[in-house]
Amino acid sequence: MKKSLPEFYCPYSDKCHQCCLDTEMTLSEEDITRIHTLGYEIEEFLEEKEGFMTLRNIDNHCIFLKNKRCSIYENRPQGCRFYPLIYDFDIEDFVIDNLCDHHEDFDLEIYRPLFDSVQVFVYNLISERDIRMRKTMEEESKAEVKESKEAPENPLAKEVIGIESDKEKIESLLAQAIDDTKDENVENLEEALKSEMKEIEEEIEELERGIQSDIDSAEEYVKITEKSIKSEIEELEKRRRKAEEDDD
Ligand code: SF4
Ligand code: SF4
Repeated sequence: MKKSLPEFYCPYSDKCHQCCLDTEMTLSEEDITRIHTLGYEIEEFLEEKEGFMTLRNIDNHCIFLKNKRCSIYENRPQGCRFYPLIYDFDIEDFVIDNLCDHHEDFDLEIYRPLFDSVQVFVYNLISERDIRMRKTMEEESKAEVKESKEAPENPLAKEVIGIESDKEKIESLLAQAIDDTKDENVENLEEALKSEMKEIEEEIEELERGIQSDIDSAEEYVKITEKSIKSEIEELEKRRRKAEEDDD
């Protein structure tokens, strides 16, 4: 199903096409794709201004204005659908653009339901512009480096090669330093573990000695007790025998 785009209805569009003259209307990526799929080449209807993609003019009017009417009306850019409702960054508010021939005839409040859509649209344009500019800068800087490398007699090329060589050396030194640190850490860890093991072994030996001493004491106590019991049994035996003799 075809997606319906939010739009502003201009009741004067049958007789007026002022906003299609010397237009600087900015297009989103979605607009560009939609119009391109109609069969128009991108370079044919677009030009870039400070990273924004704007409608191309021919003879001081939008390329799509034919016989005073928009020839792609159903697929016209989103900005054309909102116009003359715009977001003014200077006052950070929505306004009816005073470049519109009938700007005094519009009641801004009637178009309040479109404010959110306009704001989202505008921020989307800025975000797309930023992405585009970043990409261009990256491409330019890659091209400059490539060009410098291909022309080593150029002083800038020598500098770039020198910097890259220094960078490689620093990276290699860093990698070596990281390896050394790792070795040192492992050695320290081994030392610490050995020392801890030794302490544990000494504690175990101490405990074993304590246990053996307890066992020896217990055995000695058992021996003494056995001796004492034996002696008491013998004494009792003696008494029993004496008692028997006395009875006889
Ligand atoms: S695309 Fe259509 S509505 Fe927009 S400026 Fe061009 S002719 Fe006018
Ligand atoms: S200039 Fe204003 S009144 Fe004229 S067509 Fe554009 S929006 Fe409508």
